[in-house]
Parts: sequence; structure tokens; C-alpha cells
Amino acid sequence: MTNFIPTKYQLISLCCGEEFADKNWELQCPHLHQPSLIRAGYESTRFELHPEYAGIYKFAAWLPVERMLEGSGSPITFKSEGLAGLLGLKQLYITFNGYWPERGAFMKSGTFKECEAFSVCSRTNSSKGVMVVASAGNTARAFARVCSQNKIPLLLSVPMDNIQALWFDSPLDPCVKIIACEKGGDYFDAIHLSNLAVELDGFYPEGGARNVARRDGMGTTVLSAVTTIGKIPDYYFQAIGSGTGAIAAWEANLRFLADGRFGSNKMKLMLSQNAPFLPIKEAWDLRSPTILPMDDDLARKQIEEINAKVLSNRKPPYGIKGGLFDALSDAGGAILAATNKEAEKASALFLQHEGNDVEPAAAVAVASLIKAVKEKLIEQDSVVMLNITGGGIEKFKQENSVCYATPEKIFALNEDPQEIKRQIAKLFR
Ligand SMILES: [Zn+2]
Repeated sequence: MTNFIPTKYQLISLCCGEEFADKNWELQCPHLHQPSLIRAGYESTRFELHPEYAGIYKFAAWLPVERMLEGSGSPITFKSEGLAGLLGLKQLYITFNGYWPERGAFMKSGTFKECEAFSVCSRTNSSKGVMVVASAGNTARAFARVCSQNKIPLLLSVPMDNIQALWFDSPLDPCVKIIACEKGGDYFDAIHLSNLAVELDGFYPEGGARNVARRDGMGTTVLSAVTTIGKIPDYYFQAIGSGTGAIAAWEANLRFLADGRFGSNKMKLMLSQNAPFLPIKEAWDLRSPTILPMDDDLARKQIEEINAKVLSNRKPPYGIKGGLFDALSDAGGAILAATNKEAEKASALFLQHEGNDVEPAAAVAVASLIKAVKEKLIEQDSVVMLNITGGGIEKFKQENSVCYATPEKIFALNEDPQEIKRQIAKLFR
């Protein structure tokens, strides 16, 4: 294997501009100022591809990583003919995350969560201990795959209702343990379990949107697109749950502006949610800097209705400094909505005109692109990047046999917290 050279970078607080070293899995400003993201500032402001590195590591110049792990795939970008022809778009570029060997896409868990997982697990100074991740599905599958293949201790907390999302092409290594909240519990109950776990010695939180490696891992989609197209696109289409991918896309755009060789525009962020669950759209349409208060029961009911379950985040990093509100305010754009029916139709069109399946969230993005063209929100000759955040899953399952993971422990929703902690600690003895 090619010798890997760790990437040089500093961390920057967006609250006060403090620059500091990434000593120990930093997730926030060392001065504990207002809620704010931190960002990686890379030593090389000119972006250079590293074709000699495998998979996602070809983008290592702008990833906060110190080592190269086995088995990564990378986003790929190609100029669309099929879908572009159908929509009359002259410069539609599709960035595809997932499984599509004929086009050089080899993400075996089928979504861009794998970019995040490889980037996070390769981050400099990763703590020794057990990393804890709570997830409703795709993120759990991606982290399980990467950690299992590279023997990184991982505790995954998932809702039992979503356990079928944990399919793999080979059994998981015992370094990965899964806990679940019982049926009827949701993502927030899974987060409750993970919060208890990180109170234990030897366990540390992955960090989600606050983890610079997570965002810059997702940002590789834009690195792929811009280096393939040769310029920064005019529009960026993606379906969002937390909106972290859109923040990452904006941050990558800002880095390309500093690079200077790929144009001087900011991509308009054309983001989409699965109706009727639209908390980010409802906030942005009013230009509210925070998510509007929501009725928990109504939110649960709306989430039950939507097919793209990964788009169901009720507490997105929207109002935090450097978060989605700041990104949209700076770059411009819109939040669009697509119903299940519109997404299903879009998914069928993608399969017919491009030749691969897309997962429900990506179908929402395709549907919103179709809508934007119809409503003339974009010009036919503009450069458009469509981020297909997951696809080829049906194809992968047809070409490979898969097995399903089972949790070590299933906790009742009213289980005693001390008992939960005792049981979790026992798993890794
Ligand atoms: Zn600060």
C-alpha cells in the first residue's frame, strides 16, 4: 500500500476565530462560547487530488485524517445524459454515492454515510476507547462496516424498529456491539441510550455534525464534482435530514473560493425534505434563525408517514453558528418539498434514464430537481450538481448475499439508567 502522509490542519472556532490544534477529538471551541461549529483549516489551500491513495483518500488534502483505512469507496461524478435529456438540462452533473461498479462506485453500504465513517475513523488523535454512535439506520450501517473491517471498537445504538437497516455482506467483527431500544422507540430513544454510554469510562461520542471529520467526509461529494466539472456548479441539489451534508457542501465551496482556480461563485443550496415532515423548510421559508417549536405527537405522526426515514431529524444543526441557517443565508437557495408519491415517480425515472436504483432520500432530491425545472427555479444552461446520497442498494443486494445484524441488548423504554449503564459496560469487558 502507498505510504500515507497525515493531512496538516488546524481547527478554527466559528464563534471567536480561535485557532487550535486537534489534540483530543475536539468537538467545540475550547472557550465554550455560544453554540457554534468548529471548522478544519487545511494547510494546503490549493486542492490537489491524491490518485495514488485508495478510495476516499484521494481527497485527503481536505480531510482531517492521519491514516488510511481498508475498503473505502469514493463519490463519483459524471455528466448526465439520460435524466438531463429528459429535463432539458445542458449541464447536469450527478455525484453518486453508493454501489455502481460499472461507473467505479464501490460503497458497499450504499450511501454517503460511508464517506463520513471513513473520514471520522481516520481522524487524527482519535481517542482510545469505544466510539459511540446513535443512528436511525444508514449511519449505523456505514460505521458498523468501517469499524468491523478495520477492528475499531464501536457501540451502535439504534431503534429496534429500524434494525432491518443493518444488513451487511459479511458478519460483523465482535469489536462492533449493537444495542437497541425496544419496538415503539425512535431515534431519540436511541440517542438517550448513547448519552448514557458516553458517561462511562472508556466510551466517547462520535459527535455528529460537530465532528469536522464527519462534515469534511461528506464534503468529498463537492470535491468530486468540482474536480470533475472543472468549476464550482451554480446549483447544488440534495435531500436533507439534519442538513449536515449541505453545511459540508457550503464549506467545501468556501475552500474552493480560497483556492481560486475553480471560479468565484457560491452554489445555491437547493435542498429538499420529504413532505409532510418539513421543519427546516418551515423555518427557512420564514427566514427564522431557529427551528420553529413543534408538537411532538404531530412530528412523530409525520415521520411515520414519510418513506425517507433518514430525513426525519427533529433537532437539526440549523441555528447553531456555522450551521444550516448561516449556510443558506450566505449562499442563497431554497428548501423544496417532495411527497412520497413524487419521490417514487422520480426514483422510477432515475432507474429508467440513468440505470440504477436510488434510495428514498436521494429520490426526494431527484423529485425536487424535477420540480425546480418545471417551476423554472433554475436556468436550463446552468451547471447543476445533483448529489445522489445513496443508491445501488437493490443492485448490491441482487449481486451479493447479505446477512442481518442482531443487537446484543434490547432495552425497555422505561429501563433504569444505572442498569442500562451496567449492561453496556459489561459488553466490552
Ligand atoms: Zn469561541
